Amino acid sequence: MKNNLKTMNAEERAEANRASFESYSVGRSAEELKFSNTIPSKFRLGWLRSRAGQASPRQMIKSKCQECVGYEEVVKRVGGCRSTICPLWTERPYQNDEADSDQE
Ligand code: SF4
Repeated sequence: MKNNLKTMNAEERAEANRASFESYSVGRSAEELKFSNTIPSKFRLGWLRSRAGQASPRQMIKSKCQECVGYEEVVKRVGGCRSTICPLWTERPYQNDEADSDQE
């Protein structure tokens, strides 16, 4: 049985993501679900896990930073963030952009 996303084909990955989205959507308010549906699918699972309290602090920070830059050019914009007054700044992801980029 294939259970690693990297070994799945596109159809299997889409089905696994759909099942995960449904699983982590349980208990979310209508407002949260409406917002989550605006998040590009590659970032949505991290956000849903964070809201469900089932993500690491690192993932939660990553989700916030992804949202902060509007889910556009995430690696470049978060890694190059200059908002040093932000309380998350020292912990933001993608500071070593190549090392983190596969986790986007
Ligand atoms: S560290 Fe930068 S990208 Fe992350 S939340 Fe703060 S201002 Fe936004």
